[in-house]
Amino acid sequence: MEIHILASGSTGNAAVFKFGDTAILLDAGISARRIERGLAEVGMRAGDLDGVLLTHEHNDHIKGLDVFIRRHHIPVYTRPGTWEKLPCRHGFPPECCLEIEQEFNVRNVGITAFDISHDASDPVGFSFIYGGKKVVMATDLGVVTAGVEKALEYADAVVLEANHDLDMLENGPYPRFLKQRIKSSSGHLSNINAGRLLSRINCREGMRVFLAHLSQHNNHPDLAEKTVRRFLIDSGHEVGKDIILHRTAPDHRTSLAL
Ligand SMILES: [Zn+2]
Ligand SMILES: [Zn+2]
Repeated sequence: MEIHILASGSTGNAAVFKFGDTAILLDAGISARRIERGLAEVGMRAGDLDGVLLTHEHNDHIKGLDVFIRRHHIPVYTRPGTWEKLPCRHGFPPECCLEIEQEFNVRNVGITAFDISHDASDPVGFSFIYGGKKVVMATDLGVVTAGVEKALEYADAVVLEANHDLDMLENGPYPRFLKQRIKSSSGHLSNINAGRLLSRINCREGMRVFLAHLSQHNNHPDLAEKTVRRFLIDSGHEVGKDIILHRTAPDHRTSLAL
């Protein structure tokens, strides 16, 4: 199993998960050219993808979708409510527009879509089961719900949002309404709440956690990692052994083979 986070952050999100010879692109929030370049870096081409999964319709998750799908005709999977918000679907071949239910498969990979609390039409996180391993994509979480917590349990690897530091957000450049939106229960998860979540879930030893979707204005990778680490240590976890933290970046790739 391979995880390649091509880009992560408030400016654009795309990741490739590879399960045996099944390859899935998660979100297409960077340009088609950047997706193609990211695939090439890991020895893949667009034609190797078995599907594109979309979490929701915000621009930082679909920026490159239109061009990428019209160019490569890869099947796209998302919820009906998200399709409705994507006018670009009219330019896609009909067989590329697939509606998902709670449980579905892409080839031999079992996938569960779980609700997330975020101000989009019908946003989802995804958990993947393959070869006895579980990998979870959980970003754009306004608040941690029981469903999110359950999805993360006993995962081998998690891409988890650590969007902002509360002080940086409060003292940062954003207008008040935007600060409120980010902090709200349908906005984004703070470093503190990401740390709290990880410190209390049932986890498998050696769980890999990618700290993802960091705000460029309201967070810093050092701060995100330090905050999450503090919660883990305070709750008796040995960081680097029980839970292994990885950083992600908006402008370069992070890869891991499991
Ligand atoms: Zn969003
Ligand atoms: Zn986002």
